[in-house]
Parts: sequence; C-alpha cells; structure tokens
Amino acid sequence: MVETQLRARDIRDLRVLEAMRVVARHLFIPEDMRRHAYNDEPLPIGEGQTISQPYIVAYMTQILELQPHHNVLEVGTGSGYQTAILAEMVESVCSVEILPDLTNRARKVLAGLEYGNIRFRTGDGAMGWDEFAPYDGIIVTAAPGTIPETLQEQLREGGRMILPVGVTFQDLVLVTRGRRKFNRKTLIPVRFVPLIRSS
Ligand code: SAH
Repeated sequence: MVETQLRARDIRDLRVLEAMRVVARHLFIPEDMRRHAYNDEPLPIGEGQTISQPYIVAYMTQILELQPHHNVLEVGTGSGYQTAILAEMVESVCSVEILPDLTNRARKVLAGLEYGNIRFRTGDGAMGWDEFAPYDGIIVTAAPGTIPETLQEQLREGGRMILPVGVTFQDLVLVTRGRRKFNRKTLIPVRFVPLIRSS
C-alpha cells in the first residue's frame, strides 16, 4: 500500500510514510471487509460512515506539515484510523465524533494499540474543542457546506486546517492562519460523507 499507492504518487513526507507503514489499517475495518483493507478505496465502517481512502489520509496529513511537538484536532473520528496516524506523528491528538457508537469503537481499538496521547469526545466537531485550543493542525473528515468559523478560530497563528468543503461537489481546502487573516487555498476535488449538523 505504502509503495504503490503513496510513494509512487506525491506522498513525500517521510514521517507520514512511516506512520502509514506502522498503523495496520485492517484493525479499523469490520471483519467481513478486512480482505480489502489495503486496497486504494474507502470502505464502509457502519452507521452509514466510511474509512477514508489511504491516499487521501496520507495527502491530508502531509498538507498539515506536522511536527512532533504539535497539538492536533481531528473532526470525525470514524474508525479511528486517521487518529492513529496522527497519534504516531504528534504530541497530542483531540478527536471529536458525533456518533457515540463510533467514538466507543475507535476508543477501544486505539486503547488496544496503547496510544497514550489521544483525547476523545462525542459531540459536534463543527464547534471544535475549545478546552485544548489552539491547535497547530485541524483535520476534518466529513464535509461542511461552508468553512465553520468556530473551527478556524481554534487554529494557532501559523496553524493549518485541511477540510473538504461543499455539498454535491466538494474540494479539499487548506486554511492557514496568518497574523491578521485566514488564507484559503482550494486543492483537489474529493468525495466525503456530509458533516452532520447538531442544530
Ligand atoms: N477519519 C475517519 C473518517 C470517517 S467518515 C476514518 O477514516 O475512519 C466521517 C466521520 O465524521 C463519521 O464517523 C461521522 O460520523 C463523523 N461526523 C459527521 N459529522 C460530524 C460532526 N458534526 N462532528 C463530528 N463528527 C462528525
């Protein structure tokens, strides 16, 4: 998977490649789907949700330019696979998921892998997680129609946020926080599940 789907494309960050080598994707997938675990595709994880395609996980992680001392917020824990990749690479990960069953399942799998640097919360990730802000990086893996203001406010100056934006058609957008303003850059077209709004 790492050689053909990631290195052969444009994934160059050695720490991303190493994390993707270390974390076993099949552990995050329901047993009857596991034979597909290392294919280049998203897979169903129950509750109408999906685990993202490995290339997209690597691409979004690389865009964040993560450093070992970073504090990162993830919105959409889902299977917990992306959470594990982040936990391999940074000091602390805060992960928010709106569906309690998915939070619980991910929490169990990740506890089994003995990560000590992940905090979980069930709730609306569009509101971020103020208590542990500011974040050096924010990654959102469900698509809002527009960029949630509350989330970008929780970025540290110089911090980077990657998220899919759009309703029918979505693009990955990179938001960077400058001294006085937020900068936005549209990257590639993607297809994510919609962000569930709590209100
Ligand atoms: N990164 C996950 C992707 C899961 S799909 C993985 O690779 O497994 C997107 C996830 O976002 C789903 O689990 C969905 O329940 C969750 N989600 C949707 N709306 C949300 C919201 N408002 N707040 C937090 N999580 C949300």
